[in-house]
Amino acid sequence: MRFPLRVPPLPPPARSALTAASGYVRDALTPTLRLGVTGLSRAGKTVFITALVRNLIAGGRLPFFDAQAQGRILSAHLEPQPDDSIPRFDYEAHLEVLGRDPPEWPGSTRRISELRVVIGYAPENRIRKTLGISRLNVDIVDYPGEWLIDLGLLEQTYGQWSAVALEQARAPRRAEAAADWSAFVSTLDATLPGNEQIAIHGAALFTAYLEAAKTADRGVCALSPGRFLMPGDLAGSPLLTFFPLPLSPDATPAPGSLGAMMARRYESYKSHVVRPFFREHFSKLDRQIVLVDVLGALSSGPEALGDLEQALAGVLSAFKPGANSWLSRLLSRRVDRLLFAATKADHLNRTSHDRLEAILKLLTDRASTRASAAGADVKVMAIAALRATREAEVKDGKETLPCIIGVPMPGETIDGVTFDGRREQAIFPGDLPADPKRALDPALPQETSDAARFVRFRPTRLTAAGATGEAAPAPHIRLDRALDYLIGDWLS
Ligand code: GDP
Repeated sequence: MRFPLRVPPLPPPARSALTAASGYVRDALTPTLRLGVTGLSRAGKTVFITALVRNLIAGGRLPFFDAQAQGRILSAHLEPQPDDSIPRFDYEAHLEVLGRDPPEWPGSTRRISELRVVIGYAPENRIRKTLGISRLNVDIVDYPGEWLIDLGLLEQTYGQWSAVALEQARAPRRAEAAADWSAFVSTLDATLPGNEQIAIHGAALFTAYLEAAKTADRGVCALSPGRFLMPGDLAGSPLLTFFPLPLSPDATPAPGSLGAMMARRYESYKSHVVRPFFREHFSKLDRQIVLVDVLGALSSGPEALGDLEQALAGVLSAFKPGANSWLSRLLSRRVDRLLFAATKADHLNRTSHDRLEAILKLLTDRASTRASAAGADVKVMAIAALRATREAEVKDGKETLPCIIGVPMPGETIDGVTFDGRREQAIFPGDLPADPKRALDPALPQETSDAARFVRFRPTRLTAAGATGEAAPAPHIRLDRALDYLIGDWLS
């Protein structure tokens, strides 16, 4: 006689041990995708991450994010991020600022931070189904693009870097910002005895020059060293007390001299700041989005666009394994998808979104081709992570103009009118040229109205889910396409 097999219920401690064990197995099987988010100061990193996470968690409208459009995203929530040495991206604080009445833009990225989003999904892939993989950890790593530019320093001696930096400071458009520092350096000689007060004063003047150049260029400036512009936790650190001096690029400064002191500190900066960043953070990324404020650069003129192009080349060299032998040895896993996104596309009518994309494409093209050849798939998009405007057609006599409507931030001015931060305004942003080369050509008049490029609009107000469970929608432009490109294949 056979009895049905009955498994007795487990006593509570054994049950919780089993639950914990199955949790460990599930966690061990959960893949982790590390997504880097970077871009120069004010490119839109903080807004991008906040809007992205908010759309994932609150089930925003993401029709071109395939996994969501197919109804396969079952859940998304935040979990403690795994790296204790990196500060957490302060998502809740940024959301709170965007949820104020009236809403404000959150504070910008100043250092590296991280946030883990866990996505529960229904896999379509047979292997994932068989293995029971139905969760994905997405670790979003936010860091200043200025830090990537420092990669170039690893291949330069102090003398070589000094020569480049001095030449950059002499360029007519930088000369004014650099005036105080240049005057100070002209009184110095690399053979003078090393002196701490000279080091501190010179570094302070050099930092002030870089800051002034960045402000003048609306954040586009990407002069090295990156930590002088974006020190993160190193603000005030002795690692940042050096500056370039006039000396022959191949000369070895005499021991005890100011030149030797500066060269030693430059090398310390490389080994204690630059290399650790690439080793500990950059080398662990799987995917990367580089946000670019193309509209800001267009407003500043062709020279700023030239600088932006140079900065992008600097950024791309970090994704071009082989270009820097030290880095290529380090990269055991490599970024296999790289997305360049022109941000704040909501400053334009949709008729110009493709054109904005084409301008960024042209800017990144030469360098992108090299990165593609090295194995990374590179894509370019125009996006607005958090759309602050809507579109409307406005009649002007017989003509109908495609306009954008938004609330300019208090104090913003257009044609001499100053806004109070409450009143909506319809603006005709003009068209970007159909041929992107035209936008980059200094000799040609530009068509887009400066009003739309310069003005800061109030963000759309975001609220957390209320009693009804409904959170305010977070409108965007092509954020879903960006998301699909960056993580979609890991959710198949
Ligand atoms: P970060 O320095 O890269 O972190 O830049 P932020 O994310 O702080 O963005 C800088 C500023 O750009 C914000 O304060 C906004 O004024 C603007 N901005 C960023 N994203 C958007 C967007 O999607 N639409 C609009 N209209 N403005 C944006």
